[in-house]
Formats: sequence, structure tokens, C-alpha cells
Amino acid sequence: MDIELIELFPNSIKLILSDITLAFANAIRRISLADVPSLIIEDVYVLRNTSPLFDEFIAHRLGLIPLKYDIDALELNFRDECDCGGIGCNLCTVTLTLSKVTDGQTSAVVYSGDLVSSTEGVEPIKASIPIVKLGPNQALELECMAQLGVGKEHSKWQPVAAMGYQEFPNPKINKEKCTNCLVCVDTCYTGVFQKVGDSVQVANPLSCTLCNFCIDQCEPGAISIQKESSKVIFSFETTGGMEPPTILKKAGNILLTKIDEFKKTLETTLSEKEKD
Ligand SMILES: [Zn+2]
Repeated sequence: MDIELIELFPNSIKLILSDITLAFANAIRRISLADVPSLIIEDVYVLRNTSPLFDEFIAHRLGLIPLKYDIDALELNFRDECDCGGIGCNLCTVTLTLSKVTDGQTSAVVYSGDLVSSTEGVEPIKASIPIVKLGPNQALELECMAQLGVGKEHSKWQPVAAMGYQEFPNPKINKEKCTNCLVCVDTCYTGVFQKVGDSVQVANPLSCTLCNFCIDQCEPGAISIQKESSKVIFSFETTGGMEPPTILKKAGNILLTKIDEFKKTLETTLSEKEKD
């Protein structure tokens, strides 16, 4: 296997994975979506709410605010696996409080930045996510409990968004059949082709989405797009809570754990069968 890093930003990544199968890429994708844990507000205790939105509406909005944290430094337990028995303690729960009151003259928007975390390093990914607008003489006081969860339980715990892969494209122009009509340059919405001088060239092969629209529009045989099935372009965005490489490493570890569990269970089953 070979991995080539094409792009890496705090919230997104693009890789080329070589000598792998699509099934393997899909396993990493599905584990990242469903099994990699993230920290999100789950329970909200409403102490005072005279805002225009009712309690459940605000609790729902709070649950959709991604939290930034270092999952390895925090070493949180899943709440249902914690020694506290799921009641909630500092080993499985992070508390965030919010208190905002307006006077008789002014109104104010309550933002995610108004949440105050009890644990250092845990905070909303952005301070500017609006929660509710308070009119004059209104108040919102809350205590929120954030806990680890996984995407298969509720999509709010998915640490990634727009995660996908595609077979590696290899667009080529047959110079003998190309009439330089430039239709491919005009119709390819991802800008794979470019006019260089009087001819057309493949300028951005990695942008090709394998839609084959250029082939349909152009002279027959002038453009060919082959797929390399043992090579995939793998890309995704995160919700901002964890960095992309951290998510991929976690997904790899979870896959190894699952394979280990499978091996152990198989060995146990076979040894029991031998005893019979
Ligand atoms: Zn606990």
C-alpha cells in the first residue's frame, strides 16, 4: 500500500491510496462515519428559559454544535462503560454552562461562544454559531452535559462530513482524433482540460469525477478516461472537532480491533466445535 498526501487542512484531507481495494477504502469510510467516537452535548438541564424558543428546540441546537477537543489527551470513557454506572462523572462527561440575560432595553444573540466549559481544551469549534436571539428582559441559563458517542447511534456524533472516494481517473486525449474544438474545456465543470496554445491538454487529472460528460460531448474516440481500480482518491471534511489524520488513525485502530475480535471469536468457536 502506498499513500500520497495531496491536501491537508485543519478540517479536510485528500489522499491517493494505491494498491488497495475499493472494499478497504469503504471500510475506512464506514468506520470513520459510524464508529469513530466524538464528543457532543447530549443532556441539557434548563435552569431558566424565557427566550422565544422552547427548551427542546434549544437542546437540539446545542447538540448540533461540534466541540473541539483532544480525544487522546482527554481520555474520556463512554458513559455507559464508565465506573460511575452512566450517571455522569468527570471521567465520562464534560459540563458546559451558559448564562445570558438581557436588560429591559436591549436584545442579544446567544452564541456558541457563550458556552463555558468545565474542562480545559473543550470548546465549540466556533464562537459565532447562533443559538437563539433574546429580546429585552429575557434570559437563558443552561447546564449541558457532553459525552462521547458514535455516528451509528446518532449522526450528531459523526466526526466527518462529505466523506468519499473514487477510483483514480486517467483522462487522455487522442491527438489523432482531437480536432481542438475546445468542447471539453467548456463543458468539463471541474476544469480537467485546458487550452494550451492551439491544443487541448489534460491539466488537472485529479479533478476528474469520472462523469464521462466530455466523452459524450466530444468527437468519438478523442477522449478516453480509464479508471485504476487499485488506486483511489480518498477525501473528506471533518466537523472541526478532530483533525483529519486523527480520525483516520482512530478508524484504522477500530478496524484492527474488529479483526482481532473476529479472529478470537472464530478460534473460540472452532475449539468448542473440536471438543464436541
Ligand atoms: Zn462516568
